[in-house]
Amino acid sequence: AQYGAQAPDGGAWPLNREDVTRYGVNRIYPTIQGEGAQAGWAMTIVRLQGCPVGCVWCDTPESWAPGGETCTAREIAARVAALPPRWALVTGGEPTWYDLGALTVELRECGVERALETSGVYPITGLWTWVCVSPKPAGRLPLNDFNLRVADEVKWVVGRERDVEAFGAFLADHGRHLRKEVVRSVQPVSVSPRATRLCLEALMRHPTWRLSLQTHKLLGIA
Ligand code: SF4
Repeated sequence: AQYGAQAPDGGAWPLNREDVTRYGVNRIYPTIQGEGAQAGWAMTIVRLQGCPVGCVWCDTPESWAPGGETCTAREIAARVAALPPRWALVTGGEPTWYDLGALTVELRECGVERALETSGVYPITGLWTWVCVSPKPAGRLPLNDFNLRVADEVKWVVGRERDVEAFGAFLADHGRHLRKEVVRSVQPVSVSPRATRLCLEALMRHPTWRLSLQTHKLLGIA
């Protein structure tokens, strides 16, 4: 937990406005997608650097400060294409702080499918195969409702019972923005036993929801 840690100022969008073909990279590595509706697929994680949202339970605070290794979209796509997975999972940090158009075009040119993991606070740009929006109501920046219209999955992190109630209220308020087939997932924070039990109980009350488990944490892999 990052209690007291200071997330950077969100500033003007996008972060790469001086050159929308360049990105700050935290790390690129092949693994499995451990969570959400696409769990089990081999994917190359493209973790972009920079996030101003400031979630207290964030497990990647090293990705908050803008910076990282500056790479062009073409360089990132070439690195991803050279690895075995045929999917790129673009995450952060908060990847939508960048204009993602160039990156997704280059990945597509390399024959790589493109999954996005975002809190949804900035406009989603780019050509995506799969979009997961994971709203962060306790974060410093509000959700951009338009992003819900392009979501394939809405994933809600649960730590306490009131988080379950908040997801129900969120769906009641924002459900009109969602496509009918959107996957609605609840994910226990850090796969804690207490939060997992709350999610299992929630699924019994809301059987159209799905459980998202961070299986990579259970397996002890990155
Ligand atoms: Fe961490 Fe993601 Fe929240 Fe940013 S949006 S603070 S990277 S959990």
